Amino acid sequence: MEVELKAPNGKSWSQPVGLFINNEFVKSSNEQKLASINPTNEEEICSVYAATAEDVETAVSASRKAFKDPSWKGLSGTERGALMTKLADLVAENAEILATIECLDNGKPYTVALTENVPEVVNVLKYYAGYADKNFGQVIDVGPAKFAYTVKEPLGVCGQIIPWNYPLDMAAWKLGPALCCGNTIVLKLAEQTPLSMLYVAKLIKEAGFPPGVVNIINGHGREAGAALVQSPGVDKIAFTGSTATGKEIMKMASATMKNITLETGGKSPLIVFEDADLELAAMWSHIGIMSNQGQICTATSRILVHEKVYDAFVDTFKSKVKEISVVGDPFEENTFQGPQVTKAQYDRVLGFIESGKEEGATCMLGGEPAPINGKGFFVAPTVFTNVKPSMKIFREEIFGPCVAVVSFKTEEEAIELANNTTYGLGSALFTKDLTKAHRVAREIEAGMVWINSSNDSDYRIPFGGVKQSGIGRELGEAGLAAYCNIKSIHVNMTA
Ligand code: ADP
Repeated sequence: MEVELKAPNGKSWSQPVGLFINNEFVKSSNEQKLASINPTNEEEICSVYAATAEDVETAVSASRKAFKDPSWKGLSGTERGALMTKLADLVAENAEILATIECLDNGKPYTVALTENVPEVVNVLKYYAGYADKNFGQVIDVGPAKFAYTVKEPLGVCGQIIPWNYPLDMAAWKLGPALCCGNTIVLKLAEQTPLSMLYVAKLIKEAGFPPGVVNIINGHGREAGAALVQSPGVDKIAFTGSTATGKEIMKMASATMKNITLETGGKSPLIVFEDADLELAAMWSHIGIMSNQGQICTATSRILVHEKVYDAFVDTFKSKVKEISVVGDPFEENTFQGPQVTKAQYDRVLGFIESGKEEGATCMLGGEPAPINGKGFFVAPTVFTNVKPSMKIFREEIFGPCVAVVSFKTEEEAIELANNTTYGLGSALFTKDLTKAHRVAREIEAGMVWINSSNDSDYRIPFGGVKQSGIGRELGEAGLAAYCNIKSIHVNMTA
């Protein structure tokens, strides 16, 4: 159930390839597998077992049993928190291996995986470990005739479906609050990046979680994902991924009226007002769209610039992209941008770039593949100007290192352009005018607003969208609401 792997940075490890059910790695029932491809050299890394609908049911049953078992149900919040802290410590101890797997499988720079992604897992687990014995109900005083109180109780078996852009972090965002509240879990990884969380599965067992509390499976979305969403044994579905898949999940979940949390797509605006610090705005605009190969749901992919500073901003932004966005092997220390995760994503991004050119936007930087030694799914960082709001590159989520810059004349026009989208995830604005900043922040239809920064995610602060960017919140105290019921208990004191 394990294969020996070695990465270009010299790290070697034993990679589990099975379905992690009941704290054991097992084959899929029909022994089907899926291959994971290294996006840097286009070669197969290894293949892992892919769950059938029958395997999903096995995992759900294991999770259901664990939910009722005293070894989990009987734990106090403090004891659950201690297990989570132990897991966080093990993740920290294995940081280099986990970052290596993430870099190899996803194509993200090793340094980013090591200094940002793995620490995020540790932070999220520790944060929610701390909440595990501090999340309780209220006594509600309704007079002497009745004693009323609420209890926060876990939902039960949580199906969690994650995407490929942040395999470790998206898993942590879901495991943290779910475990904190005492749920059990079947986590389905994305087929493009099946490896890093299978390694974490080993650490879950080592940390001492009882069998069945966390089950981790690989499998195809339409097969294993859909089976999980439809399983009558699952009480909740938490999903991060595309808006189209999110809608399908909502439909499927309605059959059993499952509790759902969805974090889906975005086309987040970044507004640069006339009085903005252009150097600062250009720096964050770069981070906001070019980080993680542009594969971020909150990427600020539409930059709206006041016409008076448009040319100056575009010049500064262009030099930032040229200076910082070093495209290369993600194991190289000076690489900022690795390959897109798969050939399909690479083709998709290039397709959007073509449409931008065809629709008449000016491609002033990039706009082409950027292979390294003739290989890899690399796309040159791309900047479009002269973009019209009707163009596809302005309206649709590209999920790549490609940004559209448009100009506006007034604050009203900027707000209208920003809100002219079916999405509502992130948004950013740059101005030195304090009142304007807060005024505009209130007007933007989005779950998150960054004033004078972009994509400044923080595990202590709620994350999520409005409109077609999702339902519910992850992270922060708000993230707990997605994983517990409030039960009200009325005691008749006159009985
Ligand atoms: P992308 O289009 O970027 O691959 P998806 O939203 O399709 O993003 O995938 C995100 C996650 O949702 C993955 O784990 C994938 O396997 C899963 N998924 C895809 N289709 C379905 C589906 N019909 N039902 C349940 N899960 C799905």
